Amino acid sequence: MTCLECKKALSYIDHRNAMDTLGLELCSRHKGRIEKLIKLKRTPKEAILLYYGLKEVGIHPTLEWWDGKKSVDISISRVKLNIEIDTAYNLITHDQAIQNLEEAMHSFRNGFTTIRIPHILIKHYLKETVANIKGISESLKTNTKTI
Ligand SMILES: [Zn+2]
Repeated sequence: MTCLECKKALSYIDHRNAMDTLGLELCSRHKGRIEKLIKLKRTPKEAILLYYGLKEVGIHPTLEWWDGKKSVDISISRVKLNIEIDTAYNLITHDQAIQNLEEAMHSFRNGFTTIRIPHILIKHYLKETVANIKGISESLKTNTKTI
């Protein structure tokens, strides 16, 4: 049992605390950092799970990346891919929908692709979600190279 972030060995208590609150193996310092982020930016827990899932397969994502207009849940800046986690997928209003579209347009203008992932997908298909994002990321890398 080591911290996902700093590889520090975790005590039984640290491990249990982190697993109970976040479902991730983090030392108390890094658990605190994530909890602060969740509180400040209202980062969905699923974004945190996906962030560590992506790191595990060798991708370098950034949590709460500032794109000049808003904070993006996860960004993979190397391939200009933004990932937003939708937490209330069934309850989307027309106002939210047009805002999402405008944000996507803004991202495209900056050369970024935005994908929206329903939070339930991360809950039930984390591995598959990570694998698909890895595939998208690799395709973006290949496509950018050919330009
Ligand atoms: Zn740590």
